[in-house]
Amino acid sequence: MEDPSSRVLIDTILATFGNAHDFYESPRPRCKHGMVCTVRKVKKEGPTQNRLFYCCSQIDSCGVFEWKEIEPRVAKTGFVLFSDPLEYRYKNEDTGETFTSTNINAKEAYEEFLLSS
Ligand SMILES: [Zn+2]
Repeated sequence: MEDPSSRVLIDTILATFGNAHDFYESPRPRCKHGMVCTVRKVKKEGPTQNRLFYCCSQIDSCGVFEWKEIEPRVAKTGFVLFSDPLEYRYKNEDTGETFTSTNINAKEAYEEFLLSS
């Protein structure tokens, strides 16, 4: 069990590590060239600013455009600090399922969890 004093440290660590890699990314679509699309972010100010979309990765763009769906977010909900190994506790915010892994990369940890379950 976690004791409350370690919880403060945990939250600090999570704030430090929280970044885009916490997202579980599904396979990217292919464009009309048959190439895997690039993910871009809308830079223009407006209601869609910062939204992600798929587009052609080639210089001679085939003009493919598709909004990237918002994917299940895998969040680190805590740190379980055993002496060895260090385990991270994750939670899929959509399904509510929790799992632990020694992998610091939430996406890889989630894939490992899916394979093992
Ligand atoms: Zn293309």
